[in-house]
Amino acid sequence: MFIKPTTTKTLLIDLDHTLWDFESNSKVALKQAMEHLNILEWVEDYDLFFEAYEKVNTSYWEKYRNREIDKEKLIIGRFEDTFAQVLPKAKGLGLRLNNSYLELMPLQSKLLPGAWEFLEYASGKYHIVLITNGFCSVQRKKLYTSKIDQFVDHVVISEEVGAPKPSSKIFQYALSCANTRKSDAIMIGDSLEADVKGALAMGIPTIYFTDDELSGSEVKDSDYLLSITNDWYWIKEQL
Ligand SMILES: [Mg+2]
Repeated sequence: MFIKPTTTKTLLIDLDHTLWDFESNSKVALKQAMEHLNILEWVEDYDLFFEAYEKVNTSYWEKYRNREIDKEKLIIGRFEDTFAQVLPKAKGLGLRLNNSYLELMPLQSKLLPGAWEFLEYASGKYHIVLITNGFCSVQRKKLYTSKIDQFVDHVVISEEVGAPKPSSKIFQYALSCANTRKSDAIMIGDSLEADVKGALAMGIPTIYFTDDELSGSEVKDSDYLLSITNDWYWIKEQL
């Protein structure tokens, strides 16, 4: 059951995988990057290629988070490894593909279902603060391309604040931007570690934006967890 706090005046919302459709957008951006490098024609089935890349990419990110590899190894290795598996002809083009991909990525504009409608509705009723981990140039470009900057009152980016979610520093900063007490805000985000645990630890009411109910089991008992859902249409009705 969802009980909306009566005093809510500010919504803190994550960007990637919450508003901005990271999966779809990255798939399109990578395809465009391969087209630019004239290697898309070497691929018989792009869906299969992307599937292989996603698996490799996930394992590389895990190694990166565990500090087994550095950023350089991550950005090149994820493509070179994919090439080795399914497109050996492209060997050696990993760095160029990565650079082109990262340039094209923030130019994609697809949002998750209902996100636009929600922002349109909520921006007339609440302060909207975007709170995102990432690089300023990239994240701001995404907001501009997808045209959601018009609904947003403040954009808080970890690179600018000098602390990524789940650090209390960035949440504190976001609240002060909107001149809001934590009990008068709601955090909405897809990352259990960064968004949900970060906000709950500070006592900010939180919506865990996911369809994976199992992964929410460890926070289910928190007094501040309002709901687990990834349905923007439903959230709109509650708020
Ligand atoms: Mg996210």
